[in-house]
Amino acid sequence: MEARTRHSLHPRAYAGFRFVYPVLSRRARGVSLGVNLSPDARCNFSCRYCQVDRRGSRSSSRIDVGEILAEASAILDDWADGTLTDKAGWGPLPSSLLRLNDFALSGDGEPTQSPLFGPVLEALRGLLDKRSLGSVKLIIITNGSGLSRPSVRRALCGLRPRHDEIWVKLDWGTQKAFRETTGTRRSLSVHLSRVVSASRVLRVTIQTCLFGTEAGGPSETEIKAYVRSLRFLRDRKADIARVQIYTISRPPADPRLRPLSSGRLDEIARIVRAETGFRVETFGA
Ligand code: SF4
Repeated sequence: MEARTRHSLHPRAYAGFRFVYPVLSRRARGVSLGVNLSPDARCNFSCRYCQVDRRGSRSSSRIDVGEILAEASAILDDWADGTLTDKAGWGPLPSSLLRLNDFALSGDGEPTQSPLFGPVLEALRGLLDKRSLGSVKLIIITNGSGLSRPSVRRALCGLRPRHDEIWVKLDWGTQKAFRETTGTRRSLSVHLSRVVSASRVLRVTIQTCLFGTEAGGPSETEIKAYVRSLRFLRDRKADIARVQIYTISRPPADPRLRPLSSGRLDEIARIVRAETGFRVETFGA
C-alpha cells in the first residue's frame, strides 16, 4: 500500500480492541496510538467537517481503564516485536515513519468529556514509565471545550511540560463561523482564552481544518479573521508549538464540503506565517 493511501485510512479496529488503535499519522510524523474515550461515537460538537464514521451500530459508552491498559500493553508488545505494522495492514514502512510518537487521546468524540479522562492519562503515564518509554508523548486531541474543567486541568498538570502536548481546534475567526462550523452555541473568545490558559500547562499545537463549500473556499475576509484569532494567542504569549493546517481527507459529516488544494493550503500558510510568526505546517488531502 502506498504511504499516501495508508495515511488516509484511520480505522479504529485493531486485533478486536475496543479502545486502542494504531494510526500512521502524517501530523505526528510516525505511528500514533489512538485511545478512543468515546466508543459510542458521541461528541458535544457536531462539526461539519467531522470525519468520524458514525454509520452502523456502536458499542456502549462504558469505559474501562483496566481494559485500556491491557490493550495499550498488548499494542506496545506488538510494536516491540515488530508485528504491529503487519497486524495493522500497513506492510513495511519507510524508516522515516518507523517511529512510535505518542499515545493520543482522541477517537470518535471529545476526550475531555469523559469522566475517566484523568485516570486514563495517569494509567498511560504509568505504563510508559514502566516500559521506559519516556520519549513517547501523551497528546490530547481536543475541541477545547473541557480545557478549563478542574478535573481536566488537574490531569493535564500531571503530565510532562515541554514534552506532552495539547492539540486543539481553531478553524474560525468569527463567532458566526465558529457556531456554523461546530454546531454549538459556544463563545469563540472563551475558546481562545481557554487555549491561552491551557498553553501555560502544556505546549499547544493548533489544528485547523479548512475546506471548500458550494460558495468556494475560505474568503480573504475569513482568512483575515482567522489570522486575528491566532494573533490574539500570540499577543497573550500563548505557548504555541505550531499551527497545522489541513483539509478533508475522508468523507465529512456534511457531504457538500470539498477538500482544498495543497496549493491553496500553502498560500494560506504563507499568510499565517507572515502575519503571526508561528511555525505552520500543511497537510493536503
Ligand atoms: S469535535 Fe472532533 S469528533 Fe467532535 S464533531 Fe468535531 S471533529 Fe468530530
